Amino acid sequence: MIVAIDGPAGAGKSTVARALAGRLGFRYLDTGAMYRALTWLALERGISLDDGGGLGALAEQSGVDFDEAGRVFIAGYDVTSEIRDARVDKVVSTVAAHSEVRSVMRDRQQQLAALGNGVIEGRDIGTVVAPSAEVKVYLVADESVRASRRQAERPGIGADALATDLKLRDEADSARMQAAPDAIEIDTTTLTIDAVLDRIEALVHARVGTV
Ligand code: C5P
Repeated sequence: MIVAIDGPAGAGKSTVARALAGRLGFRYLDTGAMYRALTWLALERGISLDDGGGLGALAEQSGVDFDEAGRVFIAGYDVTSEIRDARVDKVVSTVAAHSEVRSVMRDRQQQLAALGNGVIEGRDIGTVVAPSAEVKVYLVADESVRASRRQAERPGIGADALATDLKLRDEADSARMQAAPDAIEIDTTTLTIDAVLDRIEALVHARVGTV
């Protein structure tokens, strides 16, 4: 079974998807980390962020790996913390917008999904990567709550800069941020993590009998 968790930054995807995978004993795949790792490598190598062909080739050559502890690796580097830097936040949407990059990422993500029993989080999982996922969830939250959650994760960045960055990223990502028509929307603004997990787990159990 595949559980697809999509939604904008700060809606709670990573926290929820990781914990849900733990509860269910499923694999966890953070597709945003794949785009972030590629972006980090492109910055490192000085590849123009407008060069879709070059970035697609870089993605092709440089797989992104995750270890059991959730550390993220690309081209032999452990980039777990660097991919959360503001310089990556700022330009990751530009890298992710190139069709050459997306097709490489989509193929890799589909190979991982084919291993079965996974919780996959991103922007286009229920629509493009795993349109036949048994459970699709679209998480949303009020803008101010999303900004303050991000602030808690990124204490070094000013609140205004963070809110602006989220807004710009939402705009840039909006083409890929549609909920699948069959996704269940959950507004996490006032819910605890456990309450969100309980709701999704109930959806999973409801599906188990039917698949
Ligand atoms: O989820 P996260 O904020 O880490 O994602 C970083 C960026 O990667 C997003 O802002 C988006 O531009 C891109 N992304 C994407 N498709 C996905 C996951 C992430 O385009 N499935």
